[in-house]
Order: sequence, then C-alpha cells, then structure tokens
Amino acid sequence: MSDYIKIAGGTIHDPANDIDGAVRDIWISGGKIVNPPEDPSVKPSRTIDAHGLVVMPGGIDMHCHIAGPKVNVARKMRPEEKRKAEVIERTAITHSGTMGSVPSTFATGYKYAGLGYTTAFDAAIPPLGARHAHEEFDDTPCLDKGFYVLMGNNHYVMRSIQQNEPQKLKAFIAWLLRSAKGFAPKLVNPGGVEVWKHKQAGNVHGLDSEVDHFRVTPRQIVSQVTQAANELGLPHPVHIHCNNLGMPGNWETTLETMKALNGHKGHLTHIQFHSYGGGDGDEDTFNSKVTQLADYVNTHDNITVDVGQVLFGETTSMTGDGPLGYFLSNVYGGKWFSGDTEMEAGCGITPIKYKNKSLVHALQWAIGLEWYLQVEDPWRVVMSTDHPNGGSFLAYPQIIRYLMDRQYRKDVIKTCHPRVKDRCTLGDIEREYTLNEIAIITRAGPARILGLKNKGHLAPGADADITVYTPHENKETMFELPRLVIKDGQIIVDQGDIRHPIQGKTLHIEPEYDTGVEADIQEWFEEFYSIRWRNYPVDASYLHESEVVPGR
Ligand SMILES: [Zn+2]
Repeated sequence: MSDYIKIAGGTIHDPANDIDGAVRDIWISGGKIVNPPEDPSVKPSRTIDAHGLVVMPGGIDMHCHIAGPKVNVARKMRPEEKRKAEVIERTAITHSGTMGSVPSTFATGYKYAGLGYTTAFDAAIPPLGARHAHEEFDDTPCLDKGFYVLMGNNHYVMRSIQQNEPQKLKAFIAWLLRSAKGFAPKLVNPGGVEVWKHKQAGNVHGLDSEVDHFRVTPRQIVSQVTQAANELGLPHPVHIHCNNLGMPGNWETTLETMKALNGHKGHLTHIQFHSYGGGDGDEDTFNSKVTQLADYVNTHDNITVDVGQVLFGETTSMTGDGPLGYFLSNVYGGKWFSGDTEMEAGCGITPIKYKNKSLVHALQWAIGLEWYLQVEDPWRVVMSTDHPNGGSFLAYPQIIRYLMDRQYRKDVIKTCHPRVKDRCTLGDIEREYTLNEIAIITRAGPARILGLKNKGHLAPGADADITVYTPHENKETMFELPRLVIKDGQIIVDQGDIRHPIQGKTLHIEPEYDTGVEADIQEWFEEFYSIRWRNYPVDASYLHESEVVPGR
C-alpha cells in the first residue's frame, strides 16, 4: 500500500517552474508534492484523471479583510444586507453561515475554497486585536491564513523614530510581530491616523506633514520601518497603504512613497486607490495617473503592488485609515463606525456603492484594470479587490475575464460614464493576459512576494495546494467553478461542493531581535497601556494548526 495520489495528464500552469501548459502528472504524498516513486511497480492509492483539465497551484489572496475587530463590526453593521443575501445552509460536514459583502467566518473559508483559493492574508490587524483575529481564523476553514500587523501609527514606532533609535525600532518591530503571532508589518496612512485621533477631521496631507507631538513625518515612518523590516530579513518586509487614499491628486504622494523606500523591498497595496490626478474636491478634474506610476514601478524592481480593483455594486468599506472612514461616511452619508485602538491604530467602516454611471467610480474601475495591464512584469502586480473594499473576492473570476478578453473590457467601458474614455488609457490597451500570467498574479507572484517558498508552485516540496479547472472560452465561467480543489493533498472541494473542510494553518513569523530592548519597551508599555505587559503577547494556545515561515 502506498499513500500516493496522482493527478494524471493535466495541462499544468506552473510559472514559478517555467511550465506553461505542458501535460504532466503530479504526485502527492503526505500533503506535499513529491517526485514520482522510483519503483515503477508502486501504484498511487488514488488517481485523478485530469486529461483536458487545467492544473494550477492553489490561489493566494495577499490582501483581504476577513478577520479581527473591524471585520466583525462590519458584519454586525449590515443586517439589511445579510437578510437579502444567499444563505449558507448547514450540512453534515459544514457550518451554516451568512454572506453579504462581509461573509461570516465559516462562509468565508468555504467560498474562498470554492473559488480555488487555499491561502489568504488579512491585511490590517491591530496587535491588541490579535487574539480576536486568531480566534476567527480558527473558525475560517479550508485556508492557510495569516495577518499583517498595523504599526504605522504605533506610538513606540513613532517615538523610536523621533529619538533617532533605529536599533530600538528594529527590535520593537520584531517583538510586536512575535507578540501578535503576525506575518508582516503593515503601515496604514502612516502618521495620519494618529493626527485624526486628536484633532477634529485631522490627517496628514503628504509625506512631509508633521505628526504633532511625535514630530515625525510619514516619510520618516515609511523609510525607517521599511529599512528595519528589510534588515530583519522578514519574508514580506513591509505592506504599505499610502497617505491620502482616494483623494484627487494623490498620485504624487504615492510616487513620493515609492521613492521613500530608498531601494528597499516594499509592497504598495490597493494601488488603484492611490493613482488619481485632479484637484482638491473637484470631481470634474479627476483622472488616471497609472501611466506615470506604472512607469516608476516598471523601472524599480524593489516595488510590488496589488491592485484593489473596484467593481460596480454595493459593498462595505473597512479600513485601518480612520480619517478615510470619516471622509467616506461624509461622501455616502450612511452608517459610520470609527475605532481607536489605544497606542496602536484606528479604523473606520461605512457602507458604499460603486456606480458605473458615476465618473469617479467608473474611473476607479478603469484605473484598477490599467494597473494590471500597464505593469510589464506580472510577477510584481497581484490580483486583489481589497476585499470587501473595492468589491468581494468573489469577483476574481470576473476580473480574470476583463484581463483575458479585451472585447469584454471595451463593451463594459461603453456602459460607463461617457467621459471615462478621455480620462484614462484603458480603452486603448490591447494587451490580454495568458493563463500563465493569470497563474502568476493569483498564486505564483503573491507566494514569491510573501516569501512563501512552499506555495504558489507545483515542484516537489511544495504544499499540495492545487486547483483543477475545466477550460472554457468564457474565463469567468472557467474560474468561478473549479472542477477540484486540493489542500494539503486532500480534495476539499469537488465541483463546488465542500467535501472535506480541513482547518488550515496559521502562518506567522518569529524574527530574531535584540532582547536587550525589552526592558525599555516594558517600561513604556506599563506606563501607557491599559493592559499589563505580561498579558499582551498571544500565547501558543491560540494557534491550533500553525507554521512559522522562515525569513529571507
Ligand atoms: Zn485593505
């Protein structure tokens, strides 16, 4: 008896290993992809016939909001949406759940798996909310998952920069990531959230605005956290949500942020929301600056981006960017929630609706697509909707169709506000993605950017996270209903039905640091925090299945 599974004769798209549509067998054992057994008499215990089917690594969502305090508030905020939405019925092996723009935990896991995704990262957890996030991860099946730790408005971070103590800053970043059992440092509107917390409608307005009291600038926070995170050798050094999200004219701030990385590796997230030309408060001047920014990305290989694609329809915006939440609530005039996490972070939540007849919304949609199509190297641009901010992760198959079918794009542009065509280049772009390029921007690329050596590819040693698709001329049809989804070597989804809802692992990091700094952190902590230092770090009992991802 062997414990091998063989996926036989599938058409393989494994760009990390330069395989573009070759027909091959894949062997699986012990949850990993392995070499075929040397002894030809060894037979697999199960053979999956994949002739005529497309085989890719499992999808990886590197930026979404699926767990933690603000996600949970957003669920509670939208009962009207939950009432109308699809109902996830309980079965003998699965839990019930609710949908809407912010699905419940179990439903989130099932729906991601149903799309062929096997790994997802929540992009914004305040360290004080880490326990909550880990508990929700425990109820989010079928996925490996991790989260990024908010630190762009953390008082100790700003204090270390103010006092010119880069070694302290570096040790603190490592200590904070370990304490939260997080995966990567996240900067959200660096400095701006802190100003918002103590000034009516406060914010910073550019890289060189000063954060009062701390007397530091967003540029210093970006540069110094990025440098420290790179020196720590983190698998994903820094994930940046720039200042001035959503504001006309913000592209200059975004360009300055790219420059502030000083050549170090850094990832700019939901770049679509940061690529706008135009003047203050004048909707009529709003336009795309993707060409200028993509040129910079194309010539600076330390920078990677994910898009944050906007799709037309209703959703819920949720952000660690407190002042942005306030701004959006004024624009849309609906419910609004604002949170203040002491010493660490903030957040804002408000329902929003993107309309194709609105010039601004239609341009946001077009600007997202321009990003995919104007970054020359697909390894440096990643598919995201910033779920649920630009739209649901459930829209990924539709985005794939936009990228692979220029006629479909052109048909949809015609339904949008008539001036969109003049304010961006989308209508003139002929590029169409290939299946291998789709495999890059949805799995191989994010795995590489996240430093996940065992994911996003199909060579021996990789986690056996595999999605098998039935080819179809309409790529939305092809990608919205995979034939099979395999996670850790087990078939978890078969033609849309959950067969085996495994738990999935929490991915986190344990960077080394100078523990001599702990005394200083503790002294500061005991003076200002509302909880005790010794109660702060998340203990191992919060992680049920987990894996420590090594540094670079
Ligand atoms: Zn986000």
